[in-house]
Amino acid sequence: MYDHLRNEIQRTAPGELAYPLKEKRSRYTHVSDNAQARTVLIHKPKYIITADKKGVVQVWSNKSILIRDGSIIDIFDPAKKKIDFNGIELIYDGSKRGGIIVTPGFVNMHTHPPMYLLRSSLMLEKGENLERSLKDMFAFESQMTDEDFFVSTVGDLTEEQKNGITTTLSHYAVFEPIEEAAKLVRQNVVNAISAVSNSHPENTPEYVENLLKNRKKYFTQIAVAIHTIHSATPQVLKKVAQLVKKYKTLFTTHVAETQASVQRNLEVHGDRTVNTLVRYGLAHSGTIMSHGVHLTDEEVGLVKKHKIGVVHLPTSNKLHKSGEFPYLLFKKHKATDLISLGTDSVISKNSLDILSEALQARIMHQDKSVIFYEELFKMMTSNGADSLQMHDRGRILPGFKADLAFWKVRDRGIMPYDEENPVTLLGNMITHGGRDVRDLMINGEFVISNRRHNLVAETELMVELQKHHQEIRRRVPKD
Ligand SMILES: [Zn+2]
Repeated sequence: MYDHLRNEIQRTAPGELAYPLKEKRSRYTHVSDNAQARTVLIHKPKYIITADKKGVVQVWSNKSILIRDGSIIDIFDPAKKKIDFNGIELIYDGSKRGGIIVTPGFVNMHTHPPMYLLRSSLMLEKGENLERSLKDMFAFESQMTDEDFFVSTVGDLTEEQKNGITTTLSHYAVFEPIEEAAKLVRQNVVNAISAVSNSHPENTPEYVENLLKNRKKYFTQIAVAIHTIHSATPQVLKKVAQLVKKYKTLFTTHVAETQASVQRNLEVHGDRTVNTLVRYGLAHSGTIMSHGVHLTDEEVGLVKKHKIGVVHLPTSNKLHKSGEFPYLLFKKHKATDLISLGTDSVISKNSLDILSEALQARIMHQDKSVIFYEELFKMMTSNGADSLQMHDRGRILPGFKADLAFWKVRDRGIMPYDEENPVTLLGNMITHGGRDVRDLMINGEFVISNRRHNLVAETELMVELQKHHQEIRRRVPKD
């Protein structure tokens, strides 16, 4: 259905990855002719930064990473262990010209990729609060076609990838455009489809169940979403809880984003939001609530008890004047490992980037509590993967999927740092956040090499995004 669009923006034939190997200053050496190298050696990056199994952030120097069939099979000191080059198809040199830092690909826990075409500073012009912005958004979204959603999602996911994000929890009401876009750009996407949607009132739990029945056929991982708890009736909540249990799927929803939404939840369900989740059997470790701004002490206690994942979105909350996330309550309940970060859509944040969101989190709470950089790093990586129950992502360890972001050390976002205490690199990355990755690997495949996207031609993509945006603007009735 999107063939002509795909032909416009796609760089290579499907199933082929073109590494720009002949470029000057490339770090790539192809040992075999296999374009889709399955065995890759990341040779001596200057630093590897990752949370370990116990949740402690580690910085390792001069270790190499061996990858086979999409997974990390070994991390070793090349000075102590002889490398068997037999079978290695591609070598990435992480040591030369100042070296490379490798981090896990970041995890973006809340975004609405089909809304990327709404990016334009004018969209927020009349947005005096979230309610007004939602109204303006809806006028634009209701004019969008599946093709618009597809090109939008390609734009969104590739921008995330340039910012080092390899896993995305998408929350939206359409399925196929997200499925096709994720497949094109190879992003790990949890495709949470709204059973109750503001923008798509025709959506139902039955619609989502039909997708779940066929879930093994799809590239994206299907999950269930509802826009907010108060927009669903008790019958729908019961049905959603059944679906989640029957198909062992993740569930996500906006929770207590504004004071008004808490009020509406009280009116509709006679209770606060987390209590409502508990009542309908939707409070468990497969649930991810976004925002969680207006929560009581008791509710945060329930979040901890039921191990519910929480996505903190400080930029969105500031821009929409929604309020301030109760970080101190999470600290009090020892529940900070349940917190991850998300970008929200382009109308709620300047860029689809998790590093700058970590900085926003630090700034938002600094008067009351300093969130250490190690803690923020976990919010960008392992906490999110754990909330998604992806126990083989979000860390750089043997047995984990090779989702890796490669950052140049000789870079204004990184230097100068304390060589004696390289964890200072983390502080630099976060405070100078928003730098593009040099290279990006997802499931063992390089999606970005030498700062260039291997699958999508960005200039052509920009042309399509602009064209589609302008056409939608023409269709939106003026108020
Ligand atoms: Zn949202």
